[in-house]
Amino acid sequence: MKRKEFRKLISVDKAREIINSLQVLPRKEASPLESAYGKILAEDIITEINVPPFPRAVMDGYAVRAEDTYACSETEPVEFRLLGNIPAGSDAKFKVSAGEAVEIATGAPIPEGANAVVMVEYSSEEGGTVAIYRPVTVGENIMKAGSDIRKGERVLRAGRKLGTREIGVLASIGKKDVPVLKLKVGIISTGDELVRPGEKLTSGKIYDANSYTLYAGIHECGAFPLLYGIVEDNEAAMKEALETAVSECALILTSGSTSSGAGDVMYRLIDEIGETLAHGINIKPGKPVVIGVIKGVPIIGLPGNPTSALMIFNEFVIPLLRKALGEGKELKKTEKGIMGTGFRSEGRQQLLPVGLIRGKIYPADRGSGAITSLSGADGFIEIPSSTEFIEAGTPVEVTLFGEVEKPDLLIAGGSCPGLDLLEDLSGLRFRTLYTSSSGGFSAIAANTADIAGVNMPSRDSRGQDGVLYNIPTIENMGLSGVVLVKGYKREVGLLVSQDKPISGLSDLPGKNLINRNLGSGTRALLDLKIAEFVAGKGISKKEFTDSISGYDSGVKSEVAVCEAVASGKAEVGIGKKACTEKNGLQFIKFAEEEYDFLIRKEIMETPEVRRFLEILNSAEFASKLPDGLHVYERTGEIIFFE
Ligand code: AMP
Ligand code: MG
Repeated sequence: MKRKEFRKLISVDKAREIINSLQVLPRKEASPLESAYGKILAEDIITEINVPPFPRAVMDGYAVRAEDTYACSETEPVEFRLLGNIPAGSDAKFKVSAGEAVEIATGAPIPEGANAVVMVEYSSEEGGTVAIYRPVTVGENIMKAGSDIRKGERVLRAGRKLGTREIGVLASIGKKDVPVLKLKVGIISTGDELVRPGEKLTSGKIYDANSYTLYAGIHECGAFPLLYGIVEDNEAAMKEALETAVSECALILTSGSTSSGAGDVMYRLIDEIGETLAHGINIKPGKPVVIGVIKGVPIIGLPGNPTSALMIFNEFVIPLLRKALGEGKELKKTEKGIMGTGFRSEGRQQLLPVGLIRGKIYPADRGSGAITSLSGADGFIEIPSSTEFIEAGTPVEVTLFGEVEKPDLLIAGGSCPGLDLLEDLSGLRFRTLYTSSSGGFSAIAANTADIAGVNMPSRDSRGQDGVLYNIPTIENMGLSGVVLVKGYKREVGLLVSQDKPISGLSDLPGKNLINRNLGSGTRALLDLKIAEFVAGKGISKKEFTDSISGYDSGVKSEVAVCEAVASGKAEVGIGKKACTEKNGLQFIKFAEEEYDFLIRKEIMETPEVRRFLEILNSAEFASKLPDGLHVYERTGEIIFFE
């Protein structure tokens, strides 16, 4: 067996060249028409019949000789002798001569001698005669035999992906079994940390995402995915899985274990039982990619990180599958747009996941290992190694990830059931990145969100009871070109297990609290409330908070707070009333906060934002808000920051 060592990363072009040289050989099989959808045609389809097979009427009316109608008019109709009637599907034989007509239905065969059909609207029938009020030309309202599909014509070419229209064509020419390509692609996920979706997630484990993204991607290409499951990080187990897959598939995709780390055995294994053609491509993400061949079956080892795996799949595997299935070169679905924000690259060729909204493109990179980079992205852009910075406004082309449903609004900030209600009632599709209030302000400042839901309180004499929401933060950040739309009020308070004797802030000392992350408006509000509470009591705020264990903790979501309290990990947490009910917790209100929407001014007049605001101001929204949330006299008020 040959041994090759690739210590150097290969270029993207070299990787394409190697992938292009792989022999991936699909098999042919006959597929019944009903299950042919999405498959790839293995042979050219030549019809043996004409469609339609005979000249037929395309209107209900009377088959006549056109020349007999030339003198017809509204005022001086001409009478024809009626020979009979031809319904659809009939093989009744008539011969139409001068001055004669046959009643005919849409889809019925034109009788001998006739060369036009008069629409029933321009006739009146009485006894054995029919009066015609308008002339027709030769061929009018007749579809000629073979005018749709002509006998002997190639109607579909090998390599065509069968969609609804193609299947319609195949049915119309009478094909029952269709020759299609079956390209079996094996999928192996590696890693001791992986658990199958549906199974229990124990400590230290994560769910296997790659098996399913790859499965869907392969399916979408018209190939046939086969799951070989999760294989532990040990050489014997991987070898066994690879050997089974090699005996059954035309191509194998693995994910994980491709780096050169201690537990990463894929590279060594391919080298041992097959031949390694490349190890490492000079591209971000996905540097650790292995390409090899085992017993003539090509294998591509993708990186474990789900975003990287999918991007490498898109960039290198889809073209390979399309080529193997004989589909044309036109392989990428792309869309043009302009950068909505600047992006700093690293001087290395990079595939950057991006979201696309109203023609603007935003980086959706959530850092390596984040699956949300995928769900928050519509596709990716390629950044060449020579580019270090892409400025906002630069035109770029996005390669789309399969079939994407693009969002109408990009929403950041604190999560809220009221926001979900706005989405449901508006019919708009939101893409939400829950980042807490302060993340919402930053996203608007950086131009990476359309709207941020914010509830950041500050001590400020302009506000009610000395607390002003959001405006001081906007001022401190010096945000301009933004609009603050007043939203609704939310009851916030302590979340406590039913059996814990806590009735207010005074009970917090000595208790174990689960707090929200820094940057959360709710946490800032607790701070303010504690400051108010200790004022004049002879203790400092710091002494008070030092006496609460867990005061410096910080979880990123209200759900995490509820879970910690419900499971007994903490005795008390903070959050909205709306969240306590389904967790069976007590709610001890300490404030009513104002939740507002920070919107980029330039998009205020878009139909999406108008719709958003229309719903916010609607009676239906007000009546459907869950308990603990309510609109008030300022809901919908707009404050401009120039
Ligand atoms: P690896 O390439 O094996 O070093 O894995 C890189 C990262 O991706 C690790 O954090 C893995 O836990 C993660 N990972 C590997 N395989 C999968 C998978 N099938 N689904 C989700 N995450 C994965
Ligand atoms: Mg691994």
